[in-house]
Amino acid sequence: KNSRVEEKVSYESSDSKKEESQASLSYETSKDINVPERLINQIIGQEEAVETIKKAAEQRRNVLLIGEPGVGKSMLAKAMAELLPRERLQDILVYPNIEDPNNPLIGTVPAGEGRKIVMNHKNKARAQDEKKNLFMMLIISFILVLGFMVQQFLAAIIAAGIVFLAMQQFRPRKTVMVPKLLVNNEGRQVAPFVDATGAHAGALLGDVRHDPYQSGGLGTPAHERVEAGMIHRANKGVLYIDEIGTMKMKTQQELLTAMQEKKYSITGQSETSSGAMVRSQAVPCDFVLVASGNLQVLEGMHPALRSRIRGYGYEVFMKDSMPDTPENRDKLVQFVAQEVEKDGRIPHFSREAIKEIIREAQRRAGKKDSLTLKLRELGGLVRAAGDIAKSRGAEIVEPEDVVEAKKLSRTLEQQIADRYIVQKKKYSVFKSEGGEVGRVNGLAIIGDRSGIILPIAAEAAPAQSKEEGRIIATGKLGEIAREAVQNVSALIKKYTGTDISNYDIHIQFLQAYDGVEGDSASVSVATAVISALEEIPVDQSVALTGSLSIRGDVLPVGGVTGKIEAAAEAGIKKVLIPASNMGDVMIEKKYEDKIEVVPVETLGDVLEHALIGKGKESLLERMQKISDMVPSIIKKPAMH
Ligand code: ADP
Repeated sequence: KNSRVEEKVSYESSDSKKEESQASLSYETSKDINVPERLINQIIGQEEAVETIKKAAEQRRNVLLIGEPGVGKSMLAKAMAELLPRERLQDILVYPNIEDPNNPLIGTVPAGEGRKIVMNHKNKARAQDEKKNLFMMLIISFILVLGFMVQQFLAAIIAAGIVFLAMQQFRPRKTVMVPKLLVNNEGRQVAPFVDATGAHAGALLGDVRHDPYQSGGLGTPAHERVEAGMIHRANKGVLYIDEIGTMKMKTQQELLTAMQEKKYSITGQSETSSGAMVRSQAVPCDFVLVASGNLQVLEGMHPALRSRIRGYGYEVFMKDSMPDTPENRDKLVQFVAQEVEKDGRIPHFSREAIKEIIREAQRRAGKKDSLTLKLRELGGLVRAAGDIAKSRGAEIVEPEDVVEAKKLSRTLEQQIADRYIVQKKKYSVFKSEGGEVGRVNGLAIIGDRSGIILPIAAEAAPAQSKEEGRIIATGKLGEIAREAVQNVSALIKKYTGTDISNYDIHIQFLQAYDGVEGDSASVSVATAVISALEEIPVDQSVALTGSLSIRGDVLPVGGVTGKIEAAAEAGIKKVLIPASNMGDVMIEKKYEDKIEVVPVETLGDVLEHALIGKGKESLLERMQKISDMVPSIIKKPAMH
């Protein structure tokens, strides 16, 4: 009949093809790989972003980096700081203002000069102090000698004490004159990089400390209580803010003002504090802003701030994968070498171990012929493998260490998925054998790429209302179920001749919970509903995933590798996946013999594989007839 559907996957062939194109870099271990010195050259796979950062550094433009976590956003910001000229760096000093103590004065000097100036002032003040101390000692001795001579010891001691205290009172006024070094760039090799992610207003914009003794002259002088903000410490450098949209609107507004003015007065941020009375002269804050986040973050971003970046800077959308080419594999080799050097405690990787990392990069990309660029996570795998090799006393990381590390460094979601499978099996929420009417083993993804079995149950009863049947979907994914049924109701009518509006259809996602995404469940929902309507059992040793078009085509979905692995773990024997997803299948070797992966193109293919027992043949025959009238439903022109 439909021979294409029977075709099994051959992992071997696609794998060996890839091996042939294994990168050409010559090395024995990652130790032989040269790691570039500059950060900008260590950034892998984000060529456009790198070019933009270079340009932006040259012209001192702001940059907005949008992308997934762990693809190198903060790394780019740091790299930008390295590219900025360092001759322009300054130290910033805050001086007392004799005329208006609550308005301390600000001065800038070339980097390195600030500390000298403060030292000079301190030395002068100390010299003055010493002079004064000497003077005091003389007076006190004189009083004591006088008292001794006229035999009035008590009076003499009291008089000496009074003189001592009176002179002490004068002391602070002298030291008041020493300025405070607000921002110190002495000895700095590159322009400052300041990460202000999650900083509150005070830390970001500067603050003036509270002084409980401010009245009465006993307190710390105002200028000494002035604290620089991150925007000031980033002067002539890079200010980096991740998750910019989570910052308070008011703070974003102030940040924008600081960007425009390139200087910003420091005042106490807490209104009830005595610091709020103090306001410094404007302090330079000529930074370049690198803001980042994912797409949703844009929603929380102040529109004026966003338009400022757009108008006077660049926006970059970061990649989360790159094509699987020999050159790009070489880049991953460099990445492993980099991560080893950066960690400093783990051994280097053998060629074979690096291959294993590259294989994992393919798997994690989750799509055909791609390598993941979520390198923070991949770096975690490198470190975990390194730790394992080290703990067995090895001098080189071998592929077995990487395989072992994959087990250990599973994400939270993967761990939940595993535990879920064990538990649900125990309480037999899902079944992996026999036939059952109206019940389907759907597949879903939780977290990033962990598969999970999503059992779906459907029940059909003649409609209670005269006009029309209802679709009743319970469970957290009810909305998706309703939509899926509505989308396929025309198909069901075409396929089965049954008008679902004569039925009340109940659909339940058994024990689905937060974090499970169900958009790829429409094929499963349709199958469950058809099984329930026709009372034809579904083979429980089969699991399926796929999105259904209203014409009955099975459309590609995400995360097939994780889904197939989850099914295999659960004891499922056969998985139906969209034919167009076949290239994305990168399951681990240990699952290859456990499970059969069957590509499906139409709902007809799905039913053929999923249904069993009585009634199946007659349904398929009926469908065949219909499909002769509506050819596109079952038979598609063969794909090349
Ligand atoms: P993000 O800011 O996008 O969340 P980071 O820049 O903090 O990600 O990346 C975390 C770590 O992951 C980096 O320190 C580096 O080790 C590694 N990494 C991430 N992206 C890249 C990349 N494109 N090239 C090289 N290493 C990367």
